[in-house]
This record gives sequence, C-alpha cells and structure tokens, in this order.
Amino acid sequence: MRIGIGYDSHRLEAGRPLIMGGIHVPFERGLKGHSDADVLIHAIVDAILGATGLGDIGTHFPDSDERYRNCSSLYFLETVYHMTQTEGYRIMNVDAVVIAEAPKFAPYFTQMKNQLAAVLQLKEKSIGLKAKTNEGMGWLGRGEGIAALAVALVEDL
Ligand code: MG
Repeated sequence: MRIGIGYDSHRLEAGRPLIMGGIHVPFERGLKGHSDADVLIHAIVDAILGATGLGDIGTHFPDSDERYRNCSSLYFLETVYHMTQTEGYRIMNVDAVVIAEAPKFAPYFTQMKNQLAAVLQLKEKSIGLKAKTNEGMGWLGRGEGIAALAVALVEDL
C-alpha cells in the first residue's frame, strides 16, 4: 500500500465559472487558472501522483502548454488514472477537504462523488469529500481564494 498527499489553491475572480470536483457550482466568482482551475481535482491528481511516484501535476500538465488552457481537470484525472493502470497500481480510496468561506459545497458532493468515482473506477463510498471554512482567518477567510487537500491510497499490484 502507498499513500500520497496533494494540496492546491487558486485565487477567486469575477467572470470565471466556479468548477469544483468536475461540477459547475453557481457562484459570483470562479477560480483563476490556466485550466478550469478545479482545485479539488488538482489536489486529488497530486495525491495519486504522489502515491504512485509519478511526479506532480505541473510536470504532466504544465500551465505553459496551450492545450490545457481552460481544459477540464477531469481530463487530468482521467489521464492520471490511466497512468496508474499502466504502471500496475490500484487506487483504493481518495479523501479530500475543500477550504472555502463560500459557497457551500456540501449540496454538490453527491454529484461530485458520482463524477470522480466514474473516472477513478471507484465506489462512491471510496471517495471522501468535506468542506470547511477557515473561520474567517487569513486569505481563505477573506474569500480571496479556495484551497483543497487530498490523500490517496493505492495498492502496488
Ligand atoms: Mg491548480
């Protein structure tokens, strides 16, 4: 068994859709980034890459690459899933926390789990999603951006 950790954060700005866990969440601002800036999927991708020793998201999907402009992060997740299959790993479970003052993400967790489980070929109970505020402290507390943490457990077959 191998475990990996992932972290990501993106700035919130007006005029962008907010994409989280592969779902469009209605909000007055969205995350700024080269891709769709799905901070949750980016953290999960890095957790899986970390567990499998396959590098990190920036190595595989650099923000200097025009192919990834406004790209759905589900594509990153799918690509990394296929890498784990090629390398002989089985993903056991993924657990993640989204840290944001707003909006409320919990109402979208079922949809997100559905989406993530389909890509990772996991049961929905093998994907943990939680949302926390930062209790008003610091840049997260001021709503300047959103952060996500994730861990992934994989079996080296
Ligand atoms: Mg990112």
